[in-house]
Amino acid sequence: MRFFDAHCHFDFPEFDGRREQELASAKAGGVQGLVMPGVRRSDWARLVSLSAPEAGLWYCLGIHPWFVAEHGLDDLDALEAAVASRLPGCIGVGECGLDGLRGSFVEQAPWFSAQVGIAARFGAPLVIHSVKAHDQVAALLRSERWQGRALIHGFSGSYQQACKFIELGCYIGVGGVITHDRAKKTRDVISRLPVEVLVLETDAPDMSPAGVAKGQNSPLYIPDIFAQLAGLRGDDKEWLAEVLMANVGEFYGLAPEVLAPN
Ligand SMILES: [Zn+2]
Repeated sequence: MRFFDAHCHFDFPEFDGRREQELASAKAGGVQGLVMPGVRRSDWARLVSLSAPEAGLWYCLGIHPWFVAEHGLDDLDALEAAVASRLPGCIGVGECGLDGLRGSFVEQAPWFSAQVGIAARFGAPLVIHSVKAHDQVAALLRSERWQGRALIHGFSGSYQQACKFIELGCYIGVGGVITHDRAKKTRDVISRLPVEVLVLETDAPDMSPAGVAKGQNSPLYIPDIFAQLAGLRGDDKEWLAEVLMANVGEFYGLAPEVLAPN
């Protein structure tokens, strides 16, 4: 079976010095590639330099809601210019969005709308961070008349909230949350959603699966998340793995063979 990690902060310093080894272990487990989301402009150059599409290493550029205060309008211009120039390896806008646990919606919303606008103008997929903000994120996508592909990464929320996102054309990111027994609600929701909207991700080094220390998450845990997902849904594993590859390929707009080369 082959897998892909749709959202992994593999550029973060936590992986310095062990990136190659980590990637080799992940690949040995069938994880044939990953996408590194951008969170702040000061990290964008690092993403560009780590990008290696031929090895399955891709990235997105964006401004995360936690870091909006360190940015200015020129950073949005730079983002737009980068997306317009279609750099090899850059396959989306994000992660951007809203976070009800850190900062304020009033501060975050203009940055989110601007990035929704950039993704819309260039037909780029949009990677969304939505924490305690699902209703606000859905409302903003609706008011921006969003028509493209979006991923609600690391989703945890109600069935109704997930359905509202799906109606808006969103994919739902499934991560380590579902490996925790305490996440009953999210486990139940994910088991009931249509399989064609599901995308696997780790959000490593954060969002550790059960049994993995905080901050020690890695793309090599994708098969564990996958096994939980297959168990929760009762799906045939081989079949589910291929459907998930097709889903992430559709979301990022690349054939699975291109996205996750052997
Ligand atoms: Zn993230």
